[in-house]
Amino acid sequence: MIERTIKSHNPATGEYLGEVHVDEPERVKEIVALSRKAAREWGRRTFLERGDSLLGLQQVIVRRADEIAEVISSETGKPRIEAMAAEIAPVVYALRYWRKRAAKVLKPKTIPLRFLVYKKSYLTFYPLGVVGLIAPWNYPFAIPMGDMTMALIAGNSILLKPSEQTPLVGKLIASLFKEADFPEGVVSVLFGGGDTGAALIGAGVDKIVFTGGGSTGRRVMAMAAETLTPVTLELGGKDPMIICEDADLELAVEGALWGGMSNAGQTCAGVKRIYIARKIAEPFIEALVKRAERLRLGVPADDHVVDVGAIVLERQIDLYRSQLADAEAQGAKILCGGREWSAYHKGRFFAPTVVVHVQGNMRLVREETFGPILAVDEVDSVEEAIDKANDSELGLCASVWSRDINRAKRIAERLEAGTVVINDCTFTHALVETPWGGVKKSGFGRVHSDEGLKEFVNWRHINYNRGGRAGNTLWGRAFWWFPYSPAKYRLFRALTDWLGTYGWWSRGRAFLAMVKAFWKMKRIH
Ligand code: NDP
Repeated sequence: MIERTIKSHNPATGEYLGEVHVDEPERVKEIVALSRKAAREWGRRTFLERGDSLLGLQQVIVRRADEIAEVISSETGKPRIEAMAAEIAPVVYALRYWRKRAAKVLKPKTIPLRFLVYKKSYLTFYPLGVVGLIAPWNYPFAIPMGDMTMALIAGNSILLKPSEQTPLVGKLIASLFKEADFPEGVVSVLFGGGDTGAALIGAGVDKIVFTGGGSTGRRVMAMAAETLTPVTLELGGKDPMIICEDADLELAVEGALWGGMSNAGQTCAGVKRIYIARKIAEPFIEALVKRAERLRLGVPADDHVVDVGAIVLERQIDLYRSQLADAEAQGAKILCGGREWSAYHKGRFFAPTVVVHVQGNMRLVREETFGPILAVDEVDSVEEAIDKANDSELGLCASVWSRDINRAKRIAERLEAGTVVINDCTFTHALVETPWGGVKKSGFGRVHSDEGLKEFVNWRHINYNRGGRAGNTLWGRAFWWFPYSPAKYRLFRALTDWLGTYGWWSRGRAFLAMVKAFWKMKRIH
């Protein structure tokens, strides 16, 4: 069989960067079997031991941080500062954080019982086994590494399928684990396209964490259903930004600009839709356009100072064009950008774009855009802003801008989103302490945070008799066991009454009736 390869090119220059061999779908089951074997030994290690391995990895990343930034930057065309700030630093922090935190979150927990007080319950957590991660190209380091950190500290082995757009970052990730001396098979990187990802889902892994587009997410879930493999889906976003009339205007302009244009707008949680109070819309739009036009586009190489990098996929540019044409045809106005920008042969760039007079039925407002385009809509009230913000199939993140924190919180609490940030935006993927994930068609399940960590383990509830007695405290065996009898029925009827009765007097009477029924049943026995 001819060995297939994936070639990698720099989207900012078109330059050939290197290639990797594809892991053919037929081989995936074999790799999963090796990973399962490794998971058994890894899962038996203590948190301290696994934490030490993570610390070793962290030190390798810190040492090689500039090289990592360079690889991310050349394969995605993003400025190196974005690679360092949004990808490498958060991962280094996550490794530091989970090393200490995981043991606290995953230690056994007592569950207080309010009814059967002669019994005791507690929860323990144990690793899932093998976790499959399918990652996108837009944050090819931070997204998989953040999830891997949690899965690993929880005691699982990992199979990572990076996007075929960023195979060299995937190769680099594999080399970091190797240098950090992780045991063979605990972390494997599978190279390939959608067919390799599909093979991974069907290969008997214990969980799939998928980050990517909604339509692929649907397919992933359907495939996972075949084998009843649990999935976490981190899908797209169309994040609204609500700017109240009392907002700090300059702050809002800079926030919108960074939220919308960083990573060249190829951010699931980037600002996309702006709902601004009509009173302050004019100066806001004027300043936003001025600042957007001043952003520096270009190849993020050493000798350039660049704010906005390249567009990774050619087809994204076609999508921007068609969404903008649809919006213009329906009365929207493009105030800046709106076109491809290329000073470099073969590079793919799109000029930062601001569109006004948008309406809710335009494709630019309804569909995911994944590019440096901000759609601005003027609103007459906070109610209108909230309604418009929630009128979307997607619900990843949102932001609210106001000088009045209580007002901003009240608005935030009405937004249908996984995360709402006040007077800032987009950045909370870097806060490992907080949950990350969407609502509606932005997906389900959480990564990061204590809640996210618990998605990488099985939950085991253990129940026993208080004092450790073998028999039931009352008369040796549980009163709901065989044999059944009319007396037993009456007991449960009395119990149901007692559970559903309120007030001291009524409750006391119901209790007495229950004790009577219990006593009778015991005599019959
Ligand atoms: P895709 O959905 O195209 O791909 C995501 C991953 O799935 C890639 O590794 C891809 O492989 C793989 N894949 C493709 N087809 C299949 C298949 N049939 N079975 C299994 N795996 C498959 O997304 P993009 O990579 O284009 O990423 C952009 C999308 O990701 C955007 O919609 C964005 O909003 C979303 N995203 C969501 C985030 C979140 O946290 N909620 C964060 C970042 C991005 P290959 O690339 O090799 O084809």
